[in-house]
Amino acid sequence: SKSVTLKKVTKTFEDDHGKQVHAVEDIDLVIKEGEFATLLGPSGCGKTTTLRMIAGFEDISNGDIYFGNENVNKISPNKRDCTMVFQSYALFPHMTVYENVVYGLKIKKMSKEDMDKKVDAIFDIMNLNMHKERMPNQLSGGQQQRVALARALVMEPSVLLFDEPLSNLDAKLRLTMRDEIRRLQQRVGITAIYVTHDQSEAMSMSDKVIVMNKGKIEQIGTPQEIYQRPSTKFVADFIGTANFFEGEIIEVTLDELVVQTSQATFTVASYGSFKKGDSVILVVRPEAVSLNEEGTYKAKVTKSVFMGQLQEYEVNFKGQDFQFNVYNPMGEKVYQEGDTVGLVFNKNSLHVIKKS
Ligand code: ADP
Ligand code: MG
Repeated sequence: SKSVTLKKVTKTFEDDHGKQVHAVEDIDLVIKEGEFATLLGPSGCGKTTTLRMIAGFEDISNGDIYFGNENVNKISPNKRDCTMVFQSYALFPHMTVYENVVYGLKIKKMSKEDMDKKVDAIFDIMNLNMHKERMPNQLSGGQQQRVALARALVMEPSVLLFDEPLSNLDAKLRLTMRDEIRRLQQRVGITAIYVTHDQSEAMSMSDKVIVMNKGKIEQIGTPQEIYQRPSTKFVADFIGTANFFEGEIIEVTLDELVVQTSQATFTVASYGSFKKGDSVILVVRPEAVSLNEEGTYKAKVTKSVFMGQLQEYEVNFKGQDFQFNVYNPMGEKVYQEGDTVGLVFNKNSLHVIKKS
């Protein structure tokens, strides 16, 4: 496998009125050998464009892309040592599964013996042996996507690219395929760059998540960093559920920050560099809150919904609506609309970001 590096990569398109628009702007990014990295962001933020530039399907307007130490700006897609798996599978409909998978090797003019060896190995790994002679339209969506993946892997590229490969599958199969792709990637030890707008997909599969917004990178980090320590409001909002309270740091001690908002004073476990007087946004994830009768932060329940494992609450806390979930073990008290409750905030689960 190889590392992939993007330096100040920009892609400009002309829109319908002849105006230049940046689909991707000044992207700096290093994806290490064997790493599973995911570009995550809302529709239109530039994920596919970034991936297509890495693959070489799209010229770059500015900047440099490297595979290992080699600058690949001028290298055509078929010589770039990477393959791409698409959402639409893109199998050849008139070819059997076997012919689909062997196709790329034939073009490489590999000997029949070597080809069969490689294809057999991939079919074994992916449990596709019994489907070898079938046509794509005789397979389920999940099986077709596995064939598409086998077709990419058999080429033994250094870098494997995925553009929303699971979007056409039903919810349950998506979960199975996540595991399968991740396991396969680790087993083969290949560098993977994966594009999705699905945050749970990104969180569960990746070593590194690259959150994009409007053609730019908002944050790069492990799934834990992105979720627990989002660096912007956009990231906190896009990933998971978050409540926001605007406030100011009124005290900094060795291990705590004290944040004053218009609702209350909050104590937050300290990290990062904040100083007294900083304007901040307090991020409260649903799991940072529990309820009891005594809590000093009094709030009024405006919604209480049984979700099985969780009870979903909405409360009004001194004028601000605020949502969270509480685990719902049997026998535990459940509060109803109209009840007054005391909120308890876990200071280790609270997070602050600088207001920009
Ligand atoms: P994503 O994959 O994150 O949904 P894309 O990379 O497909 O986003 O698109 C990013 C932006 O670039 C969008 O505003 C899109 O309309 C624009 N764009 C993408 N491809 C083209 C193109 N060939 N011509 C003009 N604009 C494009
Ligand atoms: Mg896309």
